[in-house]
Amino acid sequence: MSLTVVGSMAFDALETPFGKTDKIVGGAATYISLSASYFVEPVNVVSVVGGDFDQDHIKLMHQRNISTEGVQVKENEKSFFWSGRYFNDMNSRETLVTELNVLGDFDPIIPESYQGCEYLMLGNLAPQVQRTVIERLNVRPKLVVMDTMNFWMDIALDALKETIALVDVLSINDEEARQLSGEYSLVKAAKVIMAMGPKFLIIKKGEHGALLFNEDKVFFAPALPLEEVFDPTGAGDTFAGGFIGYIASTNDTSFENMKRAVIYGSALASFCVEKFGTERLKNLIQEEIDARVQQFVNLVKFTTIEQ
Ligand code: AMP
Repeated sequence: MSLTVVGSMAFDALETPFGKTDKIVGGAATYISLSASYFVEPVNVVSVVGGDFDQDHIKLMHQRNISTEGVQVKENEKSFFWSGRYFNDMNSRETLVTELNVLGDFDPIIPESYQGCEYLMLGNLAPQVQRTVIERLNVRPKLVVMDTMNFWMDIALDALKETIALVDVLSINDEEARQLSGEYSLVKAAKVIMAMGPKFLIIKKGEHGALLFNEDKVFFAPALPLEEVFDPTGAGDTFAGGFIGYIASTNDTSFENMKRAVIYGSALASFCVEKFGTERLKNLIQEEIDARVQQFVNLVKFTTIEQ
């Protein structure tokens, strides 16, 4: 099944308690496409970069069968730049700089070869642009998953709500779910947000796992307790890429299959945080992924005394 991903491709400068990076490659579409590439091929990316973007990274994407035909290159402009700093617990961070640059007036182009895709992942980006991508597809995909962040809730709430109304699955973190719904309880927040349109809601809770809601049902996936979390940047996007990649590879959008997809997403995210940036996602092997998924199974498997 084919998957199209839209989102930022970026330079990030990160500060964690373990160190600092200069500009390294990041961006929502970068993490999502790398992660999804372990499940489906090709992964079709829609994005925009400046003339300064890293060509080696584009080569890596091609090696992983990620199509960049829908990635516009604005030779005389600068790529999107984001800088963030993590606090000691690594669960929360502050944005230091957001320079939209080429993303400021991004007009997404959908190549003919992407038309007819069954799965669409709207990575973090201006909600108006996410919506334009849905509108420019000739056929509505079987499943549309959307990720967003507080930045857009602060500056474009109305447009954000319009886009949310058009998607099947929304993926946000706990703080954002509270901000979007005005409810502290995540169960109440989920009800309010699902009433905005999406049938499914994923609430990510960093090292405390993720919740998947649908109607009155809820599923909980833990995050793997890791000895070392080096850099959480991109974990949410990597999760989303694994989630939709797994669903696309199985072509099954049932709640039962989404539970498995949440675990695959969590497994991929657990690799992402082990090194800075995209480093750990560049060359995973299938055996490592399978072994990690098994660790999740073992983590939560138990029997009651009667069994
Ligand atoms: P995550 O850690 O999964 O929330 O995603 C981190 C990535 O999101 C970084 O690589 C950033 O480049 C990207 N990012 C941060 N802010 C924005 C924004 N306002 N729009 C699009 N992408 C962003």
